[in-house]
Amino acid sequence: MASEKIYFDYNATTPIDPLVLEVMATVARDNFGNPSSSHCFGRPAAEIVKRSRQQVATLLRAQAEEICFTSGGTESDNLALKGVVLPHLAQGRKAHVIISAVEHPAVAESCRHLESLGAVITRLPVAGDGTLTAAQVSAAFRDDTVLVSLMLANNETGVLFPISEIAALTRAQGILLHTDAVQALGKVEIDVKALGVDLLSLSGHKVYAPKGVGALWVRSGVELEPLIHGGGQEGGLRCGTENLIGMAGLGVACELLTTGMVDEGHRVAKLRDRLEAGLAAALDQQLIFHGHRRLRVPNTISLSVPYVDGESLLAHLDLEDIAVSAGSACSSGEHQGSPVLRAMGISSDLAQGSLRISLGRWSSKSEVDTFIEKFTAIVRRLWAISPLYPKKTVTLS
Ligand code: PLP
Repeated sequence: MASEKIYFDYNATTPIDPLVLEVMATVARDNFGNPSSSHCFGRPAAEIVKRSRQQVATLLRAQAEEICFTSGGTESDNLALKGVVLPHLAQGRKAHVIISAVEHPAVAESCRHLESLGAVITRLPVAGDGTLTAAQVSAAFRDDTVLVSLMLANNETGVLFPISEIAALTRAQGILLHTDAVQALGKVEIDVKALGVDLLSLSGHKVYAPKGVGALWVRSGVELEPLIHGGGQEGGLRCGTENLIGMAGLGVACELLTTGMVDEGHRVAKLRDRLEAGLAAALDQQLIFHGHRRLRVPNTISLSVPYVDGESLLAHLDLEDIAVSAGSACSSGEHQGSPVLRAMGISSDLAQGSLRISLGRWSSKSEVDTFIEKFTAIVRRLWAISPLYPKKTVTLS
């Protein structure tokens, strides 16, 4: 991204990689055929779908036929949860589902809907550092547990859940395990067989592909009820004429990750560590960093600035052309701070002063250093006008 602006909000969405864009443009220009058509326009389109499916599968070390393309992470999560649970409810059987208290709304709200239809949901609490143990999950098993759905990496804190350990327990009980890997893909290596899960969601726009495309990996042999019925595309699991351009983009994006992810992870982790250390030192160790220090993806920082409101910090950063995310959620007049941080036991004052900084492919050392400088100046200004900040210690820059 050639720009003076600083984009540190890669967990919200990523720019499309130029190589991805190039492939998408070629597909858009040269391949308008319907992949279902058997003529000379349809056949190359079907080949593109096939190739893209294989590229996604290769990244996950999965079989191509196990990839179901969707419109994104939200749809993949909906399909996994409703696809497993609805048939149980339709046949009058009980269905108990285990999730965590920090799942993305795509999972949490799907569960709320299933609850309204008769499913029973257990929401596991997390520790103060955002972690959860496999023992907590197995302690929640019931005779009627049909599904466990836990994210691989948290979107706000980047904290990783011990999914492979949990998989060993669910498998032994014959319970299906879904993981929302939307924020983990491209940041940690994912081998679906080693992970041991049955269903895995991913999203294109978090991995330098476009918005509006994603996938659900469905382990071969797992039966799901489709949510979208129609002409039989995606093996009947997700009907509708294929989003050819999006699929091609996601395929190439996955291919880029297959080759470059490990080195990129080290590079980004170094930048993150430089940023955390730089901010902590510049603000006299007064910042509070959230989430487990080690069990996390390399790109995400969640922090709170005491005595400062996250939204006003965000606005001041925006005036400097710096984009990050406020951890706080302010909906329908409530201002309680981020539900994820609240679930970690962080006070509502601190949760309201929280920010998520997420780095990515075009983040650089010079951006990190500029960020430290500008962020520090803004925080010191806000502290100086905060009626709550103990004034004696303020030094104006
Ligand atoms: N799951 C997680 C953990 C996410 O962070 C997001 C998006 O922020 C989603 C699901 C939803 O993905 P999409 O935006 O592709 O619908």
